[in-house]
Amino acid sequence: MQLLKEKVLEEGIVLSNQVLKVDAFLNHQVDPALMSSIGKEFLSHFSGEKITKVLTIEASGIAPALMTAAHLEVPLIYARKQKSLTLKDDIYVKKVYSFTKQVSSDLTVAKKFISPDDRILIVDDFLAHGEAALGLADIILQAGAEVAGIGIVIEKAFQNGGERLKDAGYRVESLVRIVSLENQRVEFAEDHEEKEKINHATSI
Ligand code: 5GP
Repeated sequence: MQLLKEKVLEEGIVLSNQVLKVDAFLNHQVDPALMSSIGKEFLSHFSGEKITKVLTIEASGIAPALMTAAHLEVPLIYARKQKSLTLKDDIYVKKVYSFTKQVSSDLTVAKKFISPDDRILIVDDFLAHGEAALGLADIILQAGAEVAGIGIVIEKAFQNGGERLKDAGYRVESLVRIVSLENQRVEFAEDHEEKEKINHATSI
């Protein structure tokens, strides 16, 4: 997605070889026009999947997931993140670990919002190690519903989340894929492949 790549290059801040900060348009200040384009893009990927709901995690997944739900014309549910929890029987719970923040938290969703006939699209802002997306998928399965697919705004393809989700059998669509954040530079998968092709061609 060209518009998103340009935003990442212009306004993204590489915090380390592992972490990209996008608080200028996605994680703190939010660009509504960009979120709407993201929603439209996910609609074009998943329109044939008979999706009944979109599921994300508070807080940073909500903006892109809401616009996706708006374009798909279905409700949005966001899982709440809680540090410690008194167990109740009206909620689904799944513990997930964040490598980025190095904390565990409990994802919770009220049982009344997911039923076994739902086909749910998971949307999240970043894919790193896949913990968040696998946690949401687990909640969908606890409810006896189906995971229709996983839409990711920014995949860090040098971490293993994409592989874990595909190995688990899920369809994953990422709008941009980053292969490296080394030397304070964002390198996208397509540009990397193009460079490899040119290098290969010039070496023949
Ligand atoms: P995962 O669960 O796939 O390891 O990590 C995904 C979650 O961690 C996302 O929901 C996102 O909030 C956060 N995250 C992971 N990597 C990054 C990153 O490079 N930048 C930002 N802003 N958030 C990240």
